[in-house]
Amino acid sequence: MGGAQGIDDLARGVRAGDERALARAISLVEDGHPDARGLLAAVFPHAGTGLVVGVTGPPGAGKSSLVDRLTARLREQGRTVGIVAVDPTSPFSGGAILGDRIRMQAHATDPGVFIRSMATRGHLGGLAAATDQALTLLQASGKEVILVETVGVGQDEVDIVGSADVSIVVLVPGLGDEVQALKAGIMEIADVFVVNKADRDGVESLLAEIEAMLSLSDSDEPPPRIVRTVAVEDRGTTELLEALDELHRRTEASGALAGRRRHRLQRQLERAVRERLMGHAFQRVLAPGEVEKTVARMVDRVIDPYAAADEAVEKMGLPATSRRIDHLGIAVASLAEAVKSWEALGFPVGETHDVPTEKVRAAFLAVGESRLELLEPTAPSSAIARFLEKRSGLHHVCILVDDLDATLAEMKTRGVELVDEVPRPGAEGCRVAFVHPRAATGVLLELKEKTKPPEP
Ligand code: ZN
Repeated sequence: MGGAQGIDDLARGVRAGDERALARAISLVEDGHPDARGLLAAVFPHAGTGLVVGVTGPPGAGKSSLVDRLTARLREQGRTVGIVAVDPTSPFSGGAILGDRIRMQAHATDPGVFIRSMATRGHLGGLAAATDQALTLLQASGKEVILVETVGVGQDEVDIVGSADVSIVVLVPGLGDEVQALKAGIMEIADVFVVNKADRDGVESLLAEIEAMLSLSDSDEPPPRIVRTVAVEDRGTTELLEALDELHRRTEASGALAGRRRHRLQRQLERAVRERLMGHAFQRVLAPGEVEKTVARMVDRVIDPYAAADEAVEKMGLPATSRRIDHLGIAVASLAEAVKSWEALGFPVGETHDVPTEKVRAAFLAVGESRLELLEPTAPSSAIARFLEKRSGLHHVCILVDDLDATLAEMKTRGVELVDEVPRPGAEGCRVAFVHPRAATGVLLELKEKTKPPEP
């Protein structure tokens, strides 16, 4: 396919609910085909409705049978259904998974059901991105309920199901301690717990385990419903559907549903930006030869990973790590006392040094990527001494900038009140300039120019 005409036709087919068009559209998205973008743009205004129900749980929990039975119930009510089976471990897709073929047969003659499995193929943003796009296509096709079923419980799958409108976690008796193990990832995303194969031994202890876990929650929301099912015998599926519909009504009324949908869109935005930037980076500055050269310098300890990233980002024409906080300056009456206290807290403090021009003695200590600067006045006329007459504590915030002259010129043009219109020498051989706290920054700002890395 190709060309605007082809995309328009395909988009029309998707919106009309044409099964072949939908299958082809999802393949384009999954492959990361260049036409996918135009297609998504064409259908996006028509997506956004259609309840997305995520279904996850460990392998063997009977998710597929459950999805199958739910689909049958929904069809009895005349609701159209889309099913997306997500399997990051499978190289196959397009309905090639065995379970899907079996399911296909059950709903093969029903135009109100569309089934599709998804695997990561050419998609740069990974499976979660491809799934979000498939959901957009299914919504645009008018499917009223879209069931997203994951094969396993990996991080990708938890992310996918966790941002659905409603999330179902399916468990089965006999998992034993697995509920504990699963807790960290999938247990938190559940809006509804399904205890499937509830005719087996161990149901009561599983229920007790779930309830015990839920009792630890400090959420203000009503606790997740727990529904027992025996999917293969079609028991409990009516109750499950009622629970889903009830949850849908409640979250729609409370605004929680709208919040989740906003979150899903935000995630798509962030992912699209990341994808664009990474694509750009790999084409332009992280080409294989470049990467090798940079890694070689890192191996030789000539450059650290953050400085290497700065270089890469700068080559892309973007500001690197400029405007991060370099340090917070704290005025202290006694540097020796302050150092003692900070070291007692487990922060090694660097060497003490004098800055005669400022009439201070200073020492830095690292706190994550930034630092604290402890400042003790060495003369009563020092700015720090005058500051300490009135108060103690935070004296200034130091921001790292790429080009100090340019930054000062820009601030001056915008009428920001500067202490220094021209840079002065600061600590560590850097040029610095101060911005007055009256300049609505709320605190005295020190602007520090990034030192240029020495020529190799
Ligand atoms: Zn400072």
